Amino acid sequence: MPILVMKFGGTSVATLDRIRRAAKRVGREVANGYDVIVIVSAMSGETNKLVGYVEETSPLFDAREYDAVVSSGENVTAGLMALTLQEMDVPARSWQGWQVPLKTTSAHASARIEEIQTGNITAKFAEGMKVAVVAGFQGISPEGRITTLGRGGSDTTAVAFAAAFGAERCDIYTDVDGVYTTDPRITSKARKLDRIAFEEMLELASLGAKVLQTRSVELAMRYNVRLRVLSSFEDNDENAGTLVCSEEDIVESNVVAGVAYSRDEAKMTLVSVADRPGIAAAIFGPLAEAGVNVDMIVQNIAEEGRTDMTFSCPTDQVKRAEKAMTDAQERGEINFHDLVADTDVCKVSIVGIGMRSHAGVAAKMFSTLRDEGINIKVITTSEIKVSVLVDRKYMELAVQSLHDAFGLERAA
Ligand code: ASP
Ligand code: MG
Repeated sequence: MPILVMKFGGTSVATLDRIRRAAKRVGREVANGYDVIVIVSAMSGETNKLVGYVEETSPLFDAREYDAVVSSGENVTAGLMALTLQEMDVPARSWQGWQVPLKTTSAHASARIEEIQTGNITAKFAEGMKVAVVAGFQGISPEGRITTLGRGGSDTTAVAFAAAFGAERCDIYTDVDGVYTTDPRITSKARKLDRIAFEEMLELASLGAKVLQTRSVELAMRYNVRLRVLSSFEDNDENAGTLVCSEEDIVESNVVAGVAYSRDEAKMTLVSVADRPGIAAAIFGPLAEAGVNVDMIVQNIAEEGRTDMTFSCPTDQVKRAEKAMTDAQERGEINFHDLVADTDVCKVSIVGIGMRSHAGVAAKMFSTLRDEGINIKVITTSEIKVSVLVDRKYMELAVQSLHDAFGLERAA
């Protein structure tokens, strides 16, 4: 039997009624002749609640116990989905990550998948089971502890299963009907894309377009998994949603494919550090060890042998970053006058593979922001994106004006 992977996000399994609706979709694919692997998220809001419990109990928590707690939301939905399918006379059973087993590294709270053993599930399919319902987001470490794959990790579980089982497709059911040029809540001119290149999706995902976890797109690109994002609240035909695919499968596209933003960004400045060989290593080494995901970095021009170093990181890692820097200062590895955290910023980015062959895209972005009176605090660029940090109060305005300036409401 051909295999299909269907992943349901938190909003698609938020209530028993929605689980029933999702199960009906699964039942239809079984009737279409597929063996289905269903990957479920926790009910929406559930993981946040569990994370909250952990943080309240232990601010600098043991990540192994964090994983033990936050992975549990998926166990509930996996069991409920299997029960719902059984009630519909579809042979189904649930699998937690360790039962598959889905093996990961021991990097708790952000583990990477090392291996999915397909034997157990394949054997059950051979015995007549039609649906394997797998708890997303979780796996087991070499030490035998439960791990999780980082927030949004169920997407990655889904793509990894699609690759491991050679699935015909990996359908990601979510609360939006596809990938948009930007967040439709910010501008009504946002347009659904029929197709988007893996590389563009990778940038958009990592820039905070929350529709897919970045790692899932990396995996899909590496294993060439046909990845479709579609709504669990609509009737979908063959061409519904957005297909994330390789560049060659996209005939024509705008220079800029999308505008992304992230509120989740903090700007940290180490004021007056010594400008000497090794200073960047002395700063970013300890940050990396502390698990801080540094994104943008700016080093100022030095004056009298001292300079300011600015970087951005997710807001919820500010405390970790501060501790790493203060500890390094105490160990005498760095010496700074002050550490200033600005959590009132956001990152806005434009992304498109067309930028490779078009000049003047960044300049147009900057002049658009200038015309709106928006001050840019930090800039970074890559081959297919330009990102800026701006005051958070300008986020909507920045996104809207860039969406207009690059004409994203119309297809190319
Ligand atoms: N439930 C987890 C989260 O909210 C994993 C997922 O849904 O992808 O991050
Ligand atoms: Mg998600």
